[in-house]
Amino acid sequence: MTIQTIGVIGAGTMGNGIAQVCAAAGYRVLMLDINDEALERGLSALKRNLERQVSKQTLSSAQAEDAIARVQTSTDYSLLNGADIVVEAATENLDLKLRILKQISHYVHPTCVIATNTSSLSITHLGASVDKPERFIGLHFFNPVPMMGLIEIIRGLQTSDATHAQMIALSDRLGKTAINAGNRPGFVVNRILVPMINEAILVLQEGLSTAEDIDLGMQLGCNQPIGPLALADLIGLDTLLAVVESLHDGFNDSKYRPAPLLKEMVAGGLLGRKTGKGFYQY
Ligand code: NAD
Repeated sequence: MTIQTIGVIGAGTMGNGIAQVCAAAGYRVLMLDINDEALERGLSALKRNLERQVSKQTLSSAQAEDAIARVQTSTDYSLLNGADIVVEAATENLDLKLRILKQISHYVHPTCVIATNTSSLSITHLGASVDKPERFIGLHFFNPVPMMGLIEIIRGLQTSDATHAQMIALSDRLGKTAINAGNRPGFVVNRILVPMINEAILVLQEGLSTAEDIDLGMQLGCNQPIGPLALADLIGLDTLLAVVESLHDGFNDSKYRPAPLLKEMVAGGLLGRKTGKGFYQY
C-alpha cells in the first residue's frame, strides 16, 4: 500500500511535531484539533521549527515551504476518509482517547492504519475501540519529535504483522530508529524515565536541593543532556502526571506513586513550557 496522506489528531506538543516530520518526509498531512485556536498554535509551532531548521541549514527554505504547503488543518474528522494512516496524539486520557479512536474508525477507510502516540495506556485496550483492531498499533514518538531519533512500536494483542511492518517502514521513511516494546504501562523508555523524573520531584519537594542543582547534578553527574525537572517542563506536567498515574494504576505498585508536588502543580495549572511556568519560568 502506498502511503500518501497521514492524519494527525491533536496539534499540541507532540501532534505538531509529528505533523512536521511527516510533512518534511513528503507526506500530505491533515492535522486535527478541537478548535481553531489550538490549530493555529500548533501550525505556528510547526512553522517556527521548520524556520529554525532553515536557519541551521539542515533544510532549504524551498523544502520548508513545500512541507508547510503539505499541511492542512481542520476540526472536521470526516476529512480523515482520505487518510492512509492516522496517528492519534491527543491529550493523555483513556476515556477521551477511546472516544476519539471510535470517531477516527468511523470515518477512515477499512485499510487505513490507526496508530496512537499514547505514552502509557494499553494498546490492546485502546485497539478494542476501533473497527478492525488488527490495523491498530502504538507508534510512540519522543519529544521534541523533529530532534529525537527514536520511535517505540507497540503491538496490541490484535495487531497484525502487516500493520507492524508498515509502521517499521514509516519510521524508516521519517528517518527514525524503531524499537519494539511490549504492551505494559510506560512501555520501555517511559517505564524507566518517568520514575526517575518523579523521584527528582520528590527530591525537590523534600528540600534536598534546588531545581537548578538537581538538574545540574543529573546533567554533570549522569551525562544527561537536560536535567529531569527541565525535562518535566518540556514534557508537560499534566502529561507527565498522567503517565505516572498509568504506571501506578497499571502495576498497582506504590513505588510508582506520583509526587504530591507534581499533583499540586498540575492542579494549579503550572504545566511547564506550554503554560509558561513549571519548575522554571519561560
Ligand atoms: P498537549 O496537551 O500538548 O496536546 C494535546 C492536544 O490534543 C491539545 O491541542 C488538545 O486540544 C488536543 N485534543 C484534545 N481533545 C481532542 C480531540 N477530541 N480531537 C482532537 N484533538 C484533541 O499533549 P501532548 O504532550 O502533545 O501529548 C499528546 C499525546 O502524546 C499524549 O498521549 C501523550 O501521552 C503523548 N506523548 C507526549 C510526550 C511529551 O513529551 N509531551 C511524549 C511522547 C508521547
